[in-house]
Amino acid sequence: METTYHMDPEAFRRHAHELVDWIIDYQERRSHELPVLSKARPGEIRSRLPAAPPTHGESFEAMLRDVDEILLPGITHWQSPNFFAFFPANSSYPSVLGELLSAGLGVQGMLWATSPACTELETHVLDWVVGMLDLPRRFLSTGPGGGVIQDSASSATLCALLAARERDTGFATNDRGVEQPLVAYASSQAHSSVEKAVGIAGIGKDNLRLIEVDETFAMRADRLEERIREDRERGFIPFFVCATVGTTSSNAIDPVPGIGALCQDQGIWLHVDAAMAGTAALCPEFRFLNEGLERADSYCFNPHKWMFTNFDCDCFYVADRAALIRSLSILPEYLKNRATESGAVIDYRDWQIPLGRRFRALKLWFVIRHYGLNGLRAHVRRHVELAQAFRGWVEASESFELASPAPLNLVCFRHRDGDEVNRAILDRLNRSGELYLTHTVLDDRFTLRFCVGQTHTELDHVAAAWERIRETADAVRNELQS
Ligand code: PLP
Repeated sequence: METTYHMDPEAFRRHAHELVDWIIDYQERRSHELPVLSKARPGEIRSRLPAAPPTHGESFEAMLRDVDEILLPGITHWQSPNFFAFFPANSSYPSVLGELLSAGLGVQGMLWATSPACTELETHVLDWVVGMLDLPRRFLSTGPGGGVIQDSASSATLCALLAARERDTGFATNDRGVEQPLVAYASSQAHSSVEKAVGIAGIGKDNLRLIEVDETFAMRADRLEERIREDRERGFIPFFVCATVGTTSSNAIDPVPGIGALCQDQGIWLHVDAAMAGTAALCPEFRFLNEGLERADSYCFNPHKWMFTNFDCDCFYVADRAALIRSLSILPEYLKNRATESGAVIDYRDWQIPLGRRFRALKLWFVIRHYGLNGLRAHVRRHVELAQAFRGWVEASESFELASPAPLNLVCFRHRDGDEVNRAILDRLNRSGELYLTHTVLDDRFTLRFCVGQTHTELDHVAAAWERIRETADAVRNELQS
C-alpha cells in the first residue's frame, strides 16, 4: 500500500489519550516538582534542538520525550499555584477541551459564510457575557453595538483607536493618511499597548498625552480636562481617551464616570481597558468596576487573564459597531458572497486586524457552561479573599508596607529598607523556584507585586509564599548588614 505519511486515526486516538494523560500528570508535577520560573539560560533550549528538521517522519513518543527533556526545563509554569507574577493567565480543563475541539474542527471563521456556527456562537456568547458582567446593554449585538473576540487587549485597543480615528476624520484617514493633528490620552499608568497602538495607527507617539495620576495611581480627570483644553487651544484635535480599570502596575481604577462625561461632552471616543480586573464584575460586590461604562464607546477585558480561558481570548465591545466595521471593512472580489451582500450576517473579519480567525468562542462557551456563573464567581471571590489575606499580613508586618490600594487580587508592597533590599528579595525568591513574583516602580520606588489568580492557588500556597518572603527578607538583610 502506498504510504500517505499521515498519522492514522488509531494512532491519533492513542496519542491524544497519551497527551491528555501527560497534561494531567503535568498538573501534579508543576505543583510539586518543577521550578515555577524556568532556570534556562539564553540559547540553552535551542542548543539542544537538532540543527536540521528530520527527513523521515519521527514517532510521537520521540516528540513527547523531547517535550519532557528539552522543552520542560525552558517552561515557566504559568499554571503553577505558586505563580504570583505579572497577571494570571489562568486556564482550565473545559477551556483546554474547547481549544482541542477548535483545532479538531480546524475552522477558519473570517466570514459568517465560512462557518456560520463560528460567528453565531461568538455573537451569542459575547451577549451572554454582557449579562454576566452586567455591562451596559449598548454593548449587546441586538442593538447598534456588539462584541467580538480579539486575540489580545492590545488588538482591542488598536481597533478602538482606529475606529475613533476614522470617526473623528469622517472616515477619510484610511484613504488619505493622517492629515489632522490628532491627539490621544491615557494615564501615565496605562498599559504600553496604548502607546504601541498610537504608533501603529500613525498618530505618533508624541501625540499621546500621558495624564498625571493621583495618590491611588488613578488618572486625574481634572488634569485630563486641562490637557484637552490646552491642546485645543494649540490647534490639536483630541479624539481618543483610554481609561484603565485595573492598571497593570497596581490595579488602579481610573475615574471612568468623570472621564466619560468629559469625553461625551467633547465628542471624544472613550475606550476602557479592564484587561484583568474586568472579570471581577462577575460578582455583584465588584460591579463598582463598571461605573461610568455606559458612556464608553468601547470596552475590553481578557477572559485569558482571570476567567479560566486559556490564551488567547479578549472580549472587545463597541457601542456603535458601524464605526468599527466601516473603519476595518474591506471586500475584495474573492470574499464576496450572498450572505455578506444580504446584510443579515456578521462578518467578524471586519471587526479585527487580520482576515482569518480561529473558533475561539468554543473555549469560552465550554468554560461558561462548565462552571456556570456560580462557579466562576466562587473562584474569583476566593482569589480576591486570598489577596486580601496577604494584604492583611503585609499591613500587620513591621518590615513591609503596602505601596498602593489593593482593591482586588493584586497587592503591591515593599520592604521598608529600600530598593536594594527589595531587588535582592525578589531575585532570591525567584531563583528559589518555589514561587514567582514580579515588580513595578511606584512613586519612584522599587515595588513587589503579588497577584493571585491561578486556577489552583489556595490559602496554603499564599501562606507559604508569605512565609518564604519574610524568611528571604531576613536572610537578605542579614547578608547586607554583614
Ligand atoms: N491592558 C492591561 C491593563 C494589561 O494589564 C495588559 C496585560 O498586562 C494588557 C492591556 C495587554 O494584554 P494583552 O496581552 O491581551 O494584549
